[in-house]
Amino acid sequence: MTWINAYCAQRERPDAIPDDRGRLPHLTTRQFRRTLAWFIARRPGGTIAGALQYHHQRIQMFEGYAGTSDSGFRDEVEAEEALTRGQLLAQMGADPDRPALTGPAGAEAEARLAEFSRHTVFEGQVVTDEARLRRILARHDPHLYPGTFLTCVYNPDRALCRNPASPADLPVMSDCQPLACRNTALTPANLQALTSHLTELEEALVDGERLAPYVRHRLQEQQRVTAAFLTRHTPESAP
Ligand code: SF4
Repeated sequence: MTWINAYCAQRERPDAIPDDRGRLPHLTTRQFRRTLAWFIARRPGGTIAGALQYHHQRIQMFEGYAGTSDSGFRDEVEAEEALTRGQLLAQMGADPDRPALTGPAGAEAEARLAEFSRHTVFEGQVVTDEARLRRILARHDPHLYPGTFLTCVYNPDRALCRNPASPADLPVMSDCQPLACRNTALTPANLQALTSHLTELEEALVDGERLAPYVRHRLQEQQRVTAAFLTRHTPESAP
């Protein structure tokens, strides 16, 4: 705290730690829960991207840690994730210049966004009050889950990530199958991320003869499926 306050004073920053009746407060690790939840919820790409990029391990670790904790931390992270998602979707719904989502569920994503924005946008202004946005989400959640490689338009009946034991109200992001699931919608950023992923696969296969046969086969399969998906779902005007 002393270091932080000296740092803020040197740079004339207003976000130093306030004192408590003239003394630095007594901080405990519990007080960092909201901070930690905030970062987990807002880390780049969100949970779906984490699942895809780290082959599910990060999700399993996080869910194992948070799920076995009696502290309520998991609830805190989920509430923060819902708020982050609500803020992002409200901004998307309010942007008239935003390119429409594409992909298998692109039209449905647009319909859900339009409905959500009826509750979150008034005279062009987005609801920014956190408590109000939480209430709106609780009643009118569009069940859209933005990620790096896809935007999940969750519909449990056609979700490939679910098994009979999974709860029906949330996608099982650790088992996402974005290239095959009919709940997949795509923003231009999602398409760009998938295109970059395809380039990485192609670069890895340039030296394919040096790879173990099983690894090479898996990469070739991923490359083939990703290229076919992009061919099917890249709008003609996209780069
Ligand atoms: S498999 Fe389908 S429903 Fe499940 S997270 Fe992926 S896109 Fe969403």
